[in-house]
Amino acid sequence: MSLTERDLKVIWHPYTQMKTAAPPVPIVRGAGALLFDEEGKQYIDAVSSWWVNIHGHAHPYIAQKVAEQLQKLEHVIFAGFTHEGAVELAERLLIHLPDNQQKAFYSDNGSTAIEVAIKMCLQYWNNQGQQRTKILAFNNAYHGDTFGAMAVSGRSAFTRAFDSLLFEVEFIDTPNKENIQSLRSQISNLKSDLACFIFEPLVQGSAGMLMYGADYLNELMAHCKQEGVLMIDDEIFTGFGRTGKSFACDYLNVQPDIMCFSKGLTGGTMALGLTTCTQHIYDAFLSDDRLKTLFHGHSFTANPIACASALASLDLFEQPQTAANIQRIVNAHAAFAGKIKHHPKIKTVRQTGTILAMEWETGDNTSYFSSLRDKLYHYFLAAGVILRPLGNVIYILPPYCITDDELQYVYSKIEQALQEI
Ligand SMILES: *Cc1c(COP(=O)(O)O)cnc(C)c1O
Repeated sequence: MSLTERDLKVIWHPYTQMKTAAPPVPIVRGAGALLFDEEGKQYIDAVSSWWVNIHGHAHPYIAQKVAEQLQKLEHVIFAGFTHEGAVELAERLLIHLPDNQQKAFYSDNGSTAIEVAIKMCLQYWNNQGQQRTKILAFNNAYHGDTFGAMAVSGRSAFTRAFDSLLFEVEFIDTPNKENIQSLRSQISNLKSDLACFIFEPLVQGSAGMLMYGADYLNELMAHCKQEGVLMIDDEIFTGFGRTGKSFACDYLNVQPDIMCFSKGLTGGTMALGLTTCTQHIYDAFLSDDRLKTLFHGHSFTANPIACASALASLDLFEQPQTAANIQRIVNAHAAFAGKIKHHPKIKTVRQTGTILAMEWETGDNTSYFSSLRDKLYHYFLAAGVILRPLGNVIYILPPYCITDDELQYVYSKIEQALQEI
């Protein structure tokens, strides 16, 4: 049996309708922006393997650091014990963040980083005897697939089967010139109930790479600060250079209270989640009363192998070559966007940093389930490019090491698709 046949016998894949989906592509090897299947066919990973890979596949430096760590310590319980990698990663990462971020709490992935952030906010108020339990979030938000993370995400086809079980959240539109005043008064009216405001800064990834400006987000955040509403900045997708700066919050001048990281944190090598917070939030859990403890932890919290890959990824991230690569992609994207934006099949093109999104004209069917999506997906796959359209939105967000030739090849295949599909 081939690997694909064996897979179909025993595996249930994520976000996949197993009845109708094409069989999975068996990948055996990766290098740089490329993945190779069993037959040796190569694919350009133009979506960074679900947005996690920033330095390329099987990076030799990360591999070396992980191998070294495996010889020393593979895992240790993180309650009552600590280890070098977890401490060094927190020390070094906090330097890159707004200076109010003082403490780091580890977990396993993006969704758990969000669960931790929500619990921190809710218990922050509870520990002070205040009943502030409402959460404010954006329409179309995506913060993960566990129940708490799902609850603060927009209600959609993804959540439909669970909607009645999700806790109530106050949803508002992303801010703009027209609605900012009404959003401000909405927050003022709710403030005594509001525990926190959670947001994806600048780009709502899963919603279809929807983008909004830093100016009005700043204004909204300043208003939350004034009204005493805690702010959770979900940088799980936008962190580590995606938006052109190190973190999306580098475009903002109001500091969030809590930040969440995963995806690019380990360079896409290992699953790891991280939630950082201010000293002020941390202090609200210090007490002789044991009930004020943050009772949260996962078996693999701060796994040393994951921390070692995150440290290695951070080493690479801090090299000037990475910033140069990011700028190179930003410029190439902008040039390509200019070239295709007037194409009759393109409704809109939008870009934030290394993220380029193109919305295809589809007539009336623009949903996530549009048949165009599958057509495009398989068209690009056949051409050796991994692009995974969100409905009628094609987006490119490559590992930063992608070569100019590879990037041009991806663009050329999109232009070809515009002619042929
Ligand atoms: C992917 C994502 C998450 C969830 O992370 P997982 O590791 O997939 O659980 C949360 N927030 C945002 C903005 C994301 O893009």
